[in-house]
Amino acid sequence: MQTYKAPLRDMRFVLHEMLEADQLSKLPGYEDATADTIDAIMEEGAKFCEDKLLPLNRIGDEEGCTYENGVVRTPSGFKQAYDDFVGAGWQSISSDPKYGGQGLPALLNFVIEEMVCSTNLAFGVYPLLSRGAAALIETHASDTLKDTYLPHLTDGSWSGTMCLTESHCGTDLGLIRKKAVPGDNGAYRISGSKMFITGGEHDLADNIIHLVLAKLPDAPDGVRGISLFLVPKVNVKADGELGPRNGVSCGSIEKKMGIHGSATCVLNFDDAEGYLIGEAHKGLRCMFTMMNGARLGVGMQGLALGETAYQSATAYAKERRSGKSLARGADSGEKADPIIVHPDVRNMLLTARAYNEGTRALAYWTALKLDISTKHPDAEVRRDADELVQLMTPIIKAFLTDRGFEAANLAVQVHGGHGYIAEHGMEQLVRDARIAQLYEGTNGIQALDLVGRKLGMKTGRLLRHFFHPATAFVEAHQEDEALKDLVLPLAKALGKLQQATLVIAQKGLGDPEEAAAVATDYLKMFGLVAIGYMWLLMAEKAAKKANGNADGDARYYANKMKTARFYMYKLLPESASLFLRIMTGKTAMAQFDEDDF
Ligand SMILES: Cc1cc2nc3c(=O)[nH]c(=O)nc-3n(C[C@H](O)[C@H](O)[C@H](O)COP(=O)(O)OP(=O)(O)OC[C@H]3O[C@@H](n4cnc5c(N)ncnc54)[C@H](O)[C@@H]3O)c2cc1C
Repeated sequence: MQTYKAPLRDMRFVLHEMLEADQLSKLPGYEDATADTIDAIMEEGAKFCEDKLLPLNRIGDEEGCTYENGVVRTPSGFKQAYDDFVGAGWQSISSDPKYGGQGLPALLNFVIEEMVCSTNLAFGVYPLLSRGAAALIETHASDTLKDTYLPHLTDGSWSGTMCLTESHCGTDLGLIRKKAVPGDNGAYRISGSKMFITGGEHDLADNIIHLVLAKLPDAPDGVRGISLFLVPKVNVKADGELGPRNGVSCGSIEKKMGIHGSATCVLNFDDAEGYLIGEAHKGLRCMFTMMNGARLGVGMQGLALGETAYQSATAYAKERRSGKSLARGADSGEKADPIIVHPDVRNMLLTARAYNEGTRALAYWTALKLDISTKHPDAEVRRDADELVQLMTPIIKAFLTDRGFEAANLAVQVHGGHGYIAEHGMEQLVRDARIAQLYEGTNGIQALDLVGRKLGMKTGRLLRHFFHPATAFVEAHQEDEALKDLVLPLAKALGKLQQATLVIAQKGLGDPEEAAAVATDYLKMFGLVAIGYMWLLMAEKAAKKANGNADGDARYYANKMKTARFYMYKLLPESASLFLRIMTGKTAMAQFDEDDF
């Protein structure tokens, strides 16, 4: 089984010391979000995840979901865990109190989500989608739909899905064929199939609320002709009680590489009753509310699995003995030392750790901005925070999931052959982590979103929300003795990132393929620099408390400084090679004709 204890010390450091998150309690609506409340909720969340979700992770993987005559059953224990999860209120932490939610900051939800996915990713995707569906309905649906569906999505008695993908299209939604025609009483009739629908059918909740993209008869071609419909699995009567089944059924579930406890369904809609959300033909815009939230959530999945991978690999590396320490020489008195003494093993562990702690800081920093973007009284502050979240969303989605997969692979490597067999759960981590790079828009598509949309938006204003504070921090700390050796590498990498940004923007104007050809490299370079900035923000706080006697809490701060140094010396330099790749543009790729492949 995997090893996992919620990294509460590190979470508290990021929340309270780096971000001073109790600033949120000064925002209207978040008065209850004091440091004490946040800590108490985190501790309870950790217990729930460690005690109830982690033991089900292996069972979920081995049993998977089963399908029989349209009925889908989740693995043993999932239903009880789901009831306990929603019963304890974990589903509704940041939901609107008007519909029964607890109204706490989204940031806290990110923290809990990390723990949930670290312990059981397959379980975690069900609540993630329900929350996304609720956010979409709250933002775009009519009051009647809100009053009917939101209380149930909030208390978890009903769950939600997002139905975009069809067999012939996932990325290119302009190609969807699913049909909707106007029906009686302002409702619509929906027909056609969707595939790969997470949680499309299961036994966890009494009803499933599908948010479905479809085309009306008069729809224009392409993405401008897509409408959005709410289609319940079970119709809801006027008095709010459940009525007869709607025309939605599950045709099959997929056999897949990982997250076996998550049901991935083919859904058939046969003249199903649905309700329009937002304006006709403008549904994709509404769906982006759900997709953007889900992209941040999927990014957290990458971090979550990276953390479990690191903890499991570290525990193994302290136990497993092989070879002698080169540093201690032949006189250590042992036949063989634990493998953690070997530089190669340490490099693997520290790579995962430096990315985990850095990406946790980036994700929580972005979540704090998300809360500011909704609750701050000053409209300009809200707008600026929202723009930063928009910029960071593709980076969090892609960079964090790539790092999570990398950490899972490293954990296999640290375990040697024992990583490849099922016993220790490392191969499961690799299989589970892989999906996060694909769904919610592949990581390649995230990179295109970054260079194709976010770079140029508002004449570069989104970028300035990152570049300005990062540059100001670097300039202010260049002479800071405690930080000097960390600031210099970041100053160089930040300068190169700005240079690369200009080159891409200029070349991309004349030839969009130039920008597209280097988009993935650019996103990674941006991610490396953003994490570097996070490490500086953390080091600034830690340096003051990391004194010489490395005991107790001082040891935590000293280790923060050491990990910051590992990041700057060993991981950030990759940005220099990415810069060189970006400068070569599209030539090396574009010289091939299609027939050359
Ligand atoms: C387990 C699982 C769960 C899922 N859950 C859901 C769900 O709940 N709801 C839902 O609607 N969907 C879901 N999906 C679908 C998922 O979001 C899509 O598979 C994903 O978006 C990619 O679409 P595709 O598979 O059609 O690949 P394609 O779009 O065919 O892409 C194939 C490759 O081409 C690249 N590519 C495609 N277009 C472009 C382009 N314009 N420029 C550059 N590169 C391009 C892609 O990056 C990718 O590498 C799920 C999938 C899986 C496997």
